[in-house]
Amino acid sequence: MRVLVIEDYQPLRAAVVAAIGAAGFAVDASDNGDEGAWYAKVNAYDLIVLDLGLPGIDGMEVLRRMHNDSNQAHVLITSAKDTLADRVAGLDAGADDYLAKPYAVEELLARIRALVRRKYQRKQPILEIADLRIDSVTHEVSRGGDLIDLTPREYALLELLAHRSGELVSRQDIRERIYDFRTDLGSNVIDVYIGYLRRKLEDGGRSRLLHTKRGHGYRLGDQP
Ligand code: CA
Repeated sequence: MRVLVIEDYQPLRAAVVAAIGAAGFAVDASDNGDEGAWYAKVNAYDLIVLDLGLPGIDGMEVLRRMHNDSNQAHVLITSAKDTLADRVAGLDAGADDYLAKPYAVEELLARIRALVRRKYQRKQPILEIADLRIDSVTHEVSRGGDLIDLTPREYALLELLAHRSGELVSRQDIRERIYDFRTDLGSNVIDVYIGYLRRKLEDGGRSRLLHTKRGHGYRLGDQP
C-alpha cells in the first residue's frame, strides 16, 4: 500500500510521514500543490492525504486535476478550513473523507486503514485466505491459529497479495506499490522476499498458498 502526503507545514508533514511509515505503508511526501499533483499523476498511490491550503496550486485544484486524469487513488482531505461548506465542497470534488485539523495521528491512521479497506472493497480489518489470517490493524499474521512472525517488508508484500488474493500480481505492481522495493538495487529482490515469505507461510508441511507464475508474477490463494 502506497500513500502520498501533500502538506506544507513541515512539523506536521514529518510526524504524519513517520507515523504512516511505521504503520507499514510506503509513503512519499510533498510540501506544495504543483509537485504533489505531479507525484499523484506519475505514481500509483492507494491513498493521498491532502492539505487544502498549499503553496502553488491549492488542494482543491490538486483534486480537480486528479479527477481530470481519472486518478484511482482515494483522497483524505486534512484541513483547518472546517466549515460545513468546505467539507461539502471537498467531498463533492471527489475526496473520500475529510479530517479537520488539528487531529490525532491515531485517528488519521484509522481513517487511512478504513479507506484502504474501502478501496479493496473489504469492510472487515481481517483478511482471510484459507487458514491464513491477516489482521491489518495489528499486523498479526497466523495460519491455522499459529502466529507467523514477519518483517515489515514481508508483511507489506503479503498484505498487497492478500488484498488481491486469487489475482496474479506482477513484479511491476509490487515494485510500484511497495516503495522499499523501488529503492533496492538488484533485480531479483522481489523473488528473494517472495522466497522468505513462502518459507514462513508454508513451513512445516503447510499447504501451498503463494504461487509463482514464472515471468508473470505471483498469486496468493488456496487454488493451484
Ligand atoms: Ca497548509
